Amino acid sequence: MLEKITEKFVDAFRGISGKASISEKNVEDAIEQIKMALLEADVNLRVVRRFVNSTLEEARGEKVLRSVSPGQQFVKIVHDKMVALLGDADQDLNLRGPDTLSVILLLGLQGSGKTTTASKLAYRLKAKGRKVLLVACDLVRPAAVEQLSVLGAQIGVAVHTENTKDPVVVAKAALARARRESFDTVIVDTAGRLQIDDALMAELARVRDVADPIESLLVADAMTGQAAVDIAKTFDEKIGITGVILSKFDSDTRGGAALSLKSVTGKAIKFIGTSERPDGLEPFHPDRIASRILGMGDIVSLVEKAQTVYDQKEAEDLAKKLSQETFSLQDYLEQLQKMKKMGSVKSMLDMLPGLAGQVSEDQLDLEGMKYEEAILQSMTRKERQNYLIIGPSRRSRIAKGSGTSVAEVNRLLKKFEKSRAMMKKMTSSKGKAAMAKYMASGAAGN
Ligand code: GDP
Repeated sequence: MLEKITEKFVDAFRGISGKASISEKNVEDAIEQIKMALLEADVNLRVVRRFVNSTLEEARGEKVLRSVSPGQQFVKIVHDKMVALLGDADQDLNLRGPDTLSVILLLGLQGSGKTTTASKLAYRLKAKGRKVLLVACDLVRPAAVEQLSVLGAQIGVAVHTENTKDPVVVAKAALARARRESFDTVIVDTAGRLQIDDALMAELARVRDVADPIESLLVADAMTGQAAVDIAKTFDEKIGITGVILSKFDSDTRGGAALSLKSVTGKAIKFIGTSERPDGLEPFHPDRIASRILGMGDIVSLVEKAQTVYDQKEAEDLAKKLSQETFSLQDYLEQLQKMKKMGSVKSMLDMLPGLAGQVSEDQLDLEGMKYEEAILQSMTRKERQNYLIIGPSRRSRIAKGSGTSVAEVNRLLKKFEKSRAMMKKMTSSKGKAAMAKYMASGAAGN
């Protein structure tokens, strides 16, 4: 997701970040590239204009151009403006306490993902301990009722259906049942058409009046770009919405809908759909998405992940080792093992600044990592502490022990020497903390 726009932003920053000094012209060029990136991503024209003008105004000032790290200042300005565009803060669902019934109404065009999203939301809320009833009020799309029943059975959530053509009848009956059977949350799937029409809106308004929802969420297809924004506007005018769920965010979305929605409609994005599965629904974090779009990586997610296997003290020790050049093969082995524990390497690397979207699984050579671990395991601890003692006869013993060849052992040792040299360079500058984080991901082993 978002690969294309990220690529464009990384390009725009390339000429500017890391430079000791930048000119007004550099800033203007970068902003021109940013403008093109936003337009190509199908961001609303007025939103682009406002974004570009305010960024230009702030970035051209003396404060930025004369600062110690003008490139980084510039990136920060763009980042902050993008967070604001995406909606500033995380938006949670506004539900009542468990003793009062909370109704969530899902609205949207046909095929936008309402039925799927209804079950995802139910799955999520059930996991949070709520007692959820799904209600099948989409009586227009053939098989929608059946689809919801199947999904509900899959996730172990009750589904209310009625044999009628009137969704108001279904909604009334479902609410009565919810009260009778002490459900605390009701999620109503409604009908959509291929296009907005008045008859549909009138019907939805009747369902809304009966259901009295605390949340009326529009499910919009992220792939449709600005069209999603227009749809949100219309639904808000005709029915009233409290927020948006952008479905199919895992598809090849260009980002236009996410970037335009809040400022055009005033409605926040609450969730994104990230797969077809019941667990494919994630809260929308504006700052994380902004970082991802800017190619800065999703540092927060990365750190959250890394923290589970890597604590602060270890990170500090590692940074110290790096700066004192005592980083050994033993440490290398430990990094490799930590990395394995952290899960998919590709998804970790995608979160890293400057690497997002640039490393493919093939380039990573996961097989190679397994061999490396075997080679390291075949060394004695003493050898791992001091790689200089590993002469020819030790090399052939290690190769035999690990089922590899002397050439492979040599390659690993050479690579280790090279990365030590690189670390020395990096840790001599102020990049120590960043390097420790980088190492926490295990990525320096590659
Ligand atoms: P409805 O007509 O609005 O109820 O739409 P559906 O729930 O039937 O969804 C339409 C299609 O989109 C189905 O094939 C879903 O599996 C798919 N879909 C929905 N949400 C997502 C998502 O977040 N990611 C992906 N990849 N597919 C989704």
